[in-house]
Amino acid sequence: RFSTATVFEEPIIPPVQVTYTQNLINGHFVDAASGKTFPTYDPRTGEVIAHVAEGDAEDINRAVAAARKAFDEGPWPKMTPYERSRILLRFADLVEKHSEELAALETWDNGKPHEQAAKAELPMLVRLFHYYAGWADKIHGLTMPADGNYHVQTLHEPIGVAGQIIPWNFPLLMFAWKVGPALACGNTIVLKTAEQTPLTALYVAKLFLEAGLPPGVLNIISGFGPTAGAALASHMDVDKIAFTGSTETGKIVQGLAARSNLKSVTLELGGKSPFIIFDDADIDEAVELAHFALFFNQGQCCCAGSRTYVHERIYDEFVEKAKARAVRRAVGDPFKKGIEQGPQIDSEQFQKVLRYIKSGIESNATLECGGDRIGDRGYFVQPTVFSNVQDDMLIAQDEIFGPVQSILKFNDIKDVIRRANATRYGLAAGVFTGSLETANTMMRALRAGTVWINCFDVFDAAIPFGGYKMSGIGREKGIYSLNNYLQVKAVVSPLKNPAW
Ligand code: NAD
Repeated sequence: RFSTATVFEEPIIPPVQVTYTQNLINGHFVDAASGKTFPTYDPRTGEVIAHVAEGDAEDINRAVAAARKAFDEGPWPKMTPYERSRILLRFADLVEKHSEELAALETWDNGKPHEQAAKAELPMLVRLFHYYAGWADKIHGLTMPADGNYHVQTLHEPIGVAGQIIPWNFPLLMFAWKVGPALACGNTIVLKTAEQTPLTALYVAKLFLEAGLPPGVLNIISGFGPTAGAALASHMDVDKIAFTGSTETGKIVQGLAARSNLKSVTLELGGKSPFIIFDDADIDEAVELAHFALFFNQGQCCCAGSRTYVHERIYDEFVEKAKARAVRRAVGDPFKKGIEQGPQIDSEQFQKVLRYIKSGIESNATLECGGDRIGDRGYFVQPTVFSNVQDDMLIAQDEIFGPVQSILKFNDIKDVIRRANATRYGLAAGVFTGSLETANTMMRALRAGTVWINCFDVFDAAIPFGGYKMSGIGREKGIYSLNNYLQVKAVVSPLKNPAW
């Protein structure tokens, strides 16, 4: 039923080599202080790609010291904004030049379709750095009238050393969302990559050095969460921590920040986003969009449309067509042309997705298609569709983070608003309708950081992204992300002549 043939063939040899495996501290690639390394795996086969320096608290200390010095002594925060902007632009050009190797490395380490990495994610990364290079010299304070005989102004200053912890689902894009605004504002950075996908951040960090970024401004540590990540979040000399990952870990990070130096925190966390299809929608278009909203990136998206609500009048037809579309999904070696879905990231996530599928079956949702692994090596999961899903089932409540679509039935707009909002999350929502009034009503009623109307997963450097409720704190991208990396200083001084 599935296009599984490619999974059983010999995996395609990635057209790239691994060059950087050490931590980047103060402009140098160095081994971990402990000398330890850890393996990163090819999710197509479970085989080791490379051994990478395993940073822990000591490496974080060294990286923070380098970032602190680069911030306190400069030149980075003291350079003119235009000079900073030029370096960001040069970096973007270098990424463009090395896009092919980068896309291949991303696919190898992460398992995402190569076409997606090359045609969508690399261009988005370049665009994002162009966007923030454009902001670098447009960040400034205000003057404001105040009561009394005073001149009042604000300075918008970099916050200092930014700690950044990123996940494995979009390693390069998450790097860009964090690093772009932080550098544009003049901060220095210690970034910890996800242990599943350490390779591409090291590669692009080298490009940053080539672009002229001074040593110590961007430090990259590979390593695990409870060691390196926790050390960064609780470091007394880190002024800000930005985290993307699970809600559970986000709570830990916020706790560590609070218990150490009360550093400022932004969190981009999990979701269980509703995608709501009204009966005035074009069914075929809705099926395709709902499919994309859930299955994109192997279902490993924080904003995945993982609760597909369909109006009862079109429900049966929608389910049939959604099932047919999932069965047609091209799953296989992500390096192969035309492949829509590669393997899940690792054994842990793979097992977790299979456990949720089992839970869906046990709770009496109807398994329309899929439900099992594909092949006997690597982490490939059949595109799976459940119908007759009820709100209280685990598969309708938890973030599965895999290719499992849950289709629920609704009968009126009030009912679906209440149910869509009845979740601890609030990252995104999608609405599909032919009615402007319905779209407008839903857009206002949904408690989510993004509402996509008749579209889904539209990302742009200018569009803010972030969550309500337990989906996070703060917004990334766009003008909003600058606030995460700036301090506002009020400067008040007396006027000499009261007449002025
Ligand atoms: P995670 O939240 O544990 O990991 C994300 C990042 O946080 C990684 O870099 C990790 O090393 C780090 N980390 C882990 N524990 C830490 C700690 N105690 N202190 C500081 N940093 C720490 O996510 P995961 O275990 O890779 O995946 C688990 C689930 O999280 C997934 O199934 C999915 O539901 C969700 N997830 C969400 C996103 C997202 O974009 N919102 C991304 C990845 C995973």
